[in-house]
Amino acid sequence: AKRNGRNRHEVFRPEMEAAARVRRQIEIDLRRALHRGELQMHYQPIVEKAGNRISGYEALIRWRHPERGSIPPIDFIPIAEETGLIHELGSRALNLACQEAATWTNGETIAVNLSPIQFKSSELVSMVALALADSGLAAERLELEITESVLLDNSDGNIRTLKALKKLGVRISLDDFGTGYSSLSYLRSFPFDKIKIDKSFVQEIGQSREAMAIIRAITGLSSSLLIETTAEGVETEEQLRRLMEEGCSHFQGYLFGRPEAAENRMQRLDWPVV
Ligand code: C2E
Ligand code: CA
Ligand code: CA
Ligand code: CA
Repeated sequence: AKRNGRNRHEVFRPEMEAAARVRRQIEIDLRRALHRGELQMHYQPIVEKAGNRISGYEALIRWRHPERGSIPPIDFIPIAEETGLIHELGSRALNLACQEAATWTNGETIAVNLSPIQFKSSELVSMVALALADSGLAAERLELEITESVLLDNSDGNIRTLKALKKLGVRISLDDFGTGYSSLSYLRSFPFDKIKIDKSFVQEIGQSREAMAIIRAITGLSSSLLIETTAEGVETEEQLRRLMEEGCSHFQGYLFGRPEAAENRMQRLDWPVV
């Protein structure tokens, strides 16, 4: 076993070095990207059942790399988090999204993702306040999406920060609910405005009784706590129908529209949802 272990180490070492090199290169490129404006936001519609309309959008970051083409967030957000670049990147993302949303004329909301690492900054609350002031966006049109890991570590300090954010008048959503170390007690520790049901559950509708049972539990709980629910990753009419039956209030997914650059933002539903 020992010999095996050593061999394994030798076999994988060049690969690990190559991976480390790619990460270093991405870090260097990312610093440059921040200065050259290679990062942009795309906007995906969120559909509200009541009113049968697009009530808002989620802002999703995109990196158009001059040589590598489009790099998905999963390939650079973790590196930005490890290197601390997430603070600058997150602030840029928030400011771009608020400025764009301030030009929309039907009161649409804008949901912006916050990394748990951003909660380590004592400047997070003032950064959000400044983005609102600079853009002129009304606070109630901004939703901040956080994941449960924000509630896991340093939860006392982070809950204080969340309360300070709420005091600004913004709304707070719990993203990716049901994945990770989800605990129902999180819902007691902070008054969330919205829960987002992770797409991994939505995509198992019709195939997994367990996934459906979890969705039912989440929507039941949210409605008794008066919290709105957005189902993400809705791709089929069958999924939509089942989610409506369960009382979900909002829907997001390719069935309605993909994330698009500001100039191509989907502005109207192509067909009535209800
Ligand atoms: P997320 O917050 O859970 O965002 C939802 C992801 O699902 C997005 O992937 C979106 O494009 C994708 N999606 C939407 N509808 C569908 C659908 O019907 N089917 C499928 N298969 N996928 C769908 P994306 O844009 O690649 O973003 C991935 C993750 O990167 C996000 O997951 C979020 O965690 C992170 N991210 C994106 N933008 C930002 C940002 O500005 N800041 C931070 N901190 N994280 C970001
Ligand atoms: Ca999100
Ligand atoms: Ca999500
Ligand atoms: Ca996710």
